[in-house]
Amino acid sequence: MTVGRTDPQAGPAHWAELDQDCVGLVRRARRYLDEIAPLIPAADRDGTLPVEVIPGLLDVGFVRGAIGVGDGGLGLSHLQTALLMEEAGRGWASLRTTANILTLVAELLSAAGSEEQKQRFLRPLLAGERMGWFAITEPEAGSDAASLTTLADRLPTGSYRLTGRKAYITNASYGDFGVVLATVDPGLGARGITAFLVEQETPGVRVVARRQLSVRAASCCDVVLNGVVIPAGNVLGDVGRGLSLAMRAVNAGRLNVSAGCTGIAQAALEAASSHAVSRTQFGKPIAGFQLVQQLIADIAVQTHAARQVYQAAARLLDRGGDARVECSMSKYFCSEAANQAATKAVQVLGAAGLMEGNVAERLFRDAREATIPEGTSQMQVLQIGRALLGVSAVR
Ligand SMILES: Cc1cc2nc3c(=O)[nH]c(=O)nc-3n(C[C@H](O)[C@H](O)[C@H](O)COP(=O)(O)OP(=O)(O)OC[C@H]3O[C@@H](n4cnc5c(N)ncnc54)[C@H](O)[C@@H]3O)c2cc1C
Repeated sequence: MTVGRTDPQAGPAHWAELDQDCVGLVRRARRYLDEIAPLIPAADRDGTLPVEVIPGLLDVGFVRGAIGVGDGGLGLSHLQTALLMEEAGRGWASLRTTANILTLVAELLSAAGSEEQKQRFLRPLLAGERMGWFAITEPEAGSDAASLTTLADRLPTGSYRLTGRKAYITNASYGDFGVVLATVDPGLGARGITAFLVEQETPGVRVVARRQLSVRAASCCDVVLNGVVIPAGNVLGDVGRGLSLAMRAVNAGRLNVSAGCTGIAQAALEAASSHAVSRTQFGKPIAGFQLVQQLIADIAVQTHAARQVYQAAARLLDRGGDARVECSMSKYFCSEAANQAATKAVQVLGAAGLMEGNVAERLFRDAREATIPEGTSQMQVLQIGRALLGVSAVR
């Protein structure tokens, strides 16, 4: 049984099932996230990412962990990288989102980058010297990513000219390069989609940051590409293979979100529990009221179940399984569970839980994001349905 309170020596009860390497990893991550927690209120209020915290995140294993030793990473297991993401979700979901995108960019470079591209982009990213973003979504191409229209025109010189608009791109305003998916020939459908490495300073690139409800310390940006000329050497992987390259990283992305959501639910449990034992109404702590216990027990059950689901998917990936369906199930279950947990935590806190600066208010906003990127809940359901029934409900 791993549900329960934190032992000051051993750590939270759910760490008891982890081996010593994993416990050491999450302990270091938690220590660092606790250390930087005082930055949260101002960053969240102002909508700014304190980029100075990123090298420290890399040092405790974020991003580097997901990359093999041969490419300068730490070669952690899927379970270990997911455990880190749970800690980030518990500590500061904006950093979980940031780490997720940096990991995705690093994984794409590691999987498909040439040696020269790895030297220019991957090594500096893992060293905390460069920040990258990933752009597939467009104003008219969201869940149906294959319908993107950003055009990559091949010029007689062999270079490509990119024209289009990307939407909701995480941290593009802080990055200095991006992986942009564009089509070399709209007539080819998904088989025309190609990944390009775009240096941010290239003429024609314009980034417009937008205010958002959730994960406020990570930015959400439109990226306008107005005749951006990219050398042929900046094609990432093969021409026409951009979508399948991105889909290779999809499992890890979904797992990362799932684990981060479990962290949000865990933080909701901690906030609700500590409030319930300290808040007195009708002459006794509200923790003594059965209906408050119901709310807290529900949060605990959701958190516990979410943890089992994401860890099972991670272990399957570590055993070499495809785990596509399990990662979809995990993303679907954990993101919805985080929303329920955060909503119930606000209820336990009453009005205090709605006030800006209160942890429950931030968890509530941050949980709300989780059911949308990396495939909405509906898209996960359709993926699961297709795997179970052998029929696509999309096309
Ligand atoms: C905080 C945040 C960060 C993001 N970061 C990035 C990023 O870094 N890079 C990037 O490229 N993108 C990013 N995105 C975009 C994200 O990937 C898209 O929002 C997502 O793919 C959904 O697309 P959409 O928002 O256009 O919704 P739509 O696809 O328009 O969907 C709207 C609604 O319709 C439903 N729907 C759509 N199709 C179907 C169907 N066939 N059956 C049933 N229901 C359906 C959806 O589930 C949803 O409820 C980010 C989004 C958010 C919110």
